[in-house]
Amino acid sequence: MTSFASPDAETTIFAVWTAIFIGLLVFWQMASLGARRTAQPYAVTFAGIVVLLFAWLQVGQQGFFFALIPVAIIIALNITVLKICGRCGTASRTMLILPVVKYCGHCGSELDSKAG
Ligand SMILES: [Zn+2]
Repeated sequence: MTSFASPDAETTIFAVWTAIFIGLLVFWQMASLGARRTAQPYAVTFAGIVVLLFAWLQVGQQGFFFALIPVAIIIALNITVLKICGRCGTASRTMLILPVVKYCGHCGSELDSKAG
């Protein structure tokens, strides 16, 4: 498969990516807690796909597969590791070397309770 990247295509993709990124930031600021919890895995996955697309366009198929593994790991970690508190909305991130966070660091509410 050949790379279809050209300077024009790269500029367009960069502009689109920037617009999407700003849009996501604005959405994140305005969205309700429920919407954030729903959108988070999709947003993380989408960001990973965009990174992969960039790698592909920049260096071709080799770059795609080179970026695929770390991106897949980052997506998986973000979805499984990031927990958003159902009470106050604070996102708690678990470090790899520590056990999974069970209580919100902000309000102390239990994170595993599936309230809502
Ligand atoms: Zn909390």
